[in-house]
Amino acid sequence: MARRGGKEHKTKLLLGAIADDLTGATDLCNTLVAGGMRTVQVIGAPRAGTAVPDADAVVVALKSRTVPPAKAVRESRAALAWLRKGGARQVFFKYCSTFDSTPRGNIGPVADALLDDLGADFTVACPAFPTNGRTVYKGHLFVGDGLLENSGMRNHPLTPMRDSNLVAVLGAQTPRPVGLVGHETVREGAGAIRRALDRLREAGTRHAVVDAIADGDLMAIGESCVDLPLVTGGSGVAMGLPANFRESGLLGETEEAAALPVAGGYAAVVAGSCSPATLGQIERMAASRPAFFVDAEALAARRRVAAEALAWARPRLADGPVLIYASAAPTRVKRIQKRLGADKAGAMIERCLGRIAKGLVDAGVGRLVVAGGETAGAVVGTLGVQALRIGAEIDPGVPWTMSVGEPRLHLALKSGNFGASDFFTRAFDVLL
Ligand code: ADP
Repeated sequence: MARRGGKEHKTKLLLGAIADDLTGATDLCNTLVAGGMRTVQVIGAPRAGTAVPDADAVVVALKSRTVPPAKAVRESRAALAWLRKGGARQVFFKYCSTFDSTPRGNIGPVADALLDDLGADFTVACPAFPTNGRTVYKGHLFVGDGLLENSGMRNHPLTPMRDSNLVAVLGAQTPRPVGLVGHETVREGAGAIRRALDRLREAGTRHAVVDAIADGDLMAIGESCVDLPLVTGGSGVAMGLPANFRESGLLGETEEAAALPVAGGYAAVVAGSCSPATLGQIERMAASRPAFFVDAEALAARRRVAAEALAWARPRLADGPVLIYASAAPTRVKRIQKRLGADKAGAMIERCLGRIAKGLVDAGVGRLVVAGGETAGAVVGTLGVQALRIGAEIDPGVPWTMSVGEPRLHLALKSGNFGASDFFTRAFDVLL
């Protein structure tokens, strides 16, 4: 037992989650923290022998959405075994709220494998996320006002979604029977949903798609899943899970779930996103803080740009946050892409920004904002960060986090298009 907020609480893991991609994992982490669970996100498959961190919820972020099903199953089962070793009482399999998958998988095969390993025979599937316009009605997934099959997902390069009927979509991915709990039942509340789930299970159904068109539905579904070893869905349905643990006395008070250790060290922003939001944030910060441009052309000409950037930054760090960015407007990006190819240019810049981030941390930076999804992946990889404790959100979808283990630092990993225009400057103000 450990102390928190004056109340005793068990340090044993309550919820163990497996997410099929990184940003989906972060999304789930934010939901769980908002529900009062101290949450750690593990980046990539956990290394064998690594201890499960002390947290109420641990979310393993895999990259298994579009890999071959056998690989997704293998990695998910390994993550499950690790989470169970940590004592997870319930398991959550998180996928996208647009049910991104193909007839081969990977939602069905992974859910089946997790059920088998848990010795369970029944789970729910609910990708609904009403706040973001994803609702499920009569088993059909809507995106905004239209069906999934008529949304942009129709032409997704990897997981084109051309059928909105989730019972059929999931049915094509698993040999096991798929059923439906309709909204006429869901709106009657948790008791009615639970009875419907029991009936389906007794009749041989193994996956139940559950309708949800509002957050209240998700809360009721969450409540009805209290005894299921495995729950599957989008981050929305996870909203209802913390209350179950609180109800059974396993989860302490809400307020401190987002608390991180006090921040220290110098502050820096490293940006590799060329998204409009990030370009605006760069312009805003550069107006009042020192800024260094990582020139892709100079990198291509083999100039030692990372060393130049670090030599520029070191004497400035003591005076407040610095900005180092490779981000550029589309015409400039196109020019270098034409010369090197988009992938090669991107990888070259990511490598350089990773090296710069490592140099900054070695120079005493303890609070680092990184802009860009791929860029963040490169930075975290170069720093050797394997897990993040999730703190309070700076802007929707972007929390401060703190690395678990070495190096110890506060990190905010911002997806390119997220955040208000003052994000870079305000981020350090909200970190106490
Ligand atoms: P976002 O989250 O906005 O998609 P990412 O970091 O995922 O941002 O992707 C941006 C990509 O653009 C990265 O691969 C990055 O290295 C690359 N990049 C950054 N600056 C430039 C530039 N000036 N020219 C070409 N590519 C760039």
